Amino acid sequence: MVTTSYAIALGANRPGRDGAPEAALAAALAELGGTASVIIRTAPIGPSIRRYANAACIITSPLAPPALLTALKRMERAAGRRPGRRWGNRPLDLDIILWSEGAWASPGLTIPHPAFRERGFVLGPLAMIAPDWRDPITGLTVRQLHARLTRRRPAYRATASGGS
Ligand code: ATP
Ligand code: CA
Ligand code: CA
Repeated sequence: MVTTSYAIALGANRPGRDGAPEAALAAALAELGGTASVIIRTAPIGPSIRRYANAACIITSPLAPPALLTALKRMERAAGRRPGRRWGNRPLDLDIILWSEGAWASPGLTIPHPAFRERGFVLGPLAMIAPDWRDPITGLTVRQLHARLTRRRPAYRATASGGS
């Protein structure tokens, strides 16, 4: 049995089975095990603005990528997520960001996650726990990708500060 490592990004922006987004992420981090970042939060700006919580973790797993994605989707459903619009409000979002074996592409699954290089809410938590993990596509480490993103103009950063 070959055990490989995965970097998982967690996000939530509405209450679910576990209550607030932070609670959903804490429960998912406990279930996934491995090494977890802290949970980062964006405070609600007004009564109608959703609060986001994001985190990352590194796990080891004998599962191949499609089987791991199936397991993650099961956790999302158990947390109260229902299939719907992409980028909609959800109590739990679990994305596979990186895999120790490099890149993977099959229908419905691309690793590295195609958007992670542009997302501060993914790179920030990931840089806390895996700064030296190298993106197989750009050859840059997580630390370098994060630095590249945060060096950009503030308006860009603002759009990338929260999400799932
Ligand atoms: P985004 O992928 O931009 O973060 P999202 O997480 O809101 O958007 P979802 O609705 O959760 O999107 O997922 C849409 C589909 O993306 C999933 O059904 C899954 O098959 C596919 N997918 C492709 N690559 C990945 C990946 N690396 N991790 C998780 N899902 C992936
Ligand atoms: Ca997702
Ligand atoms: Ca996502």
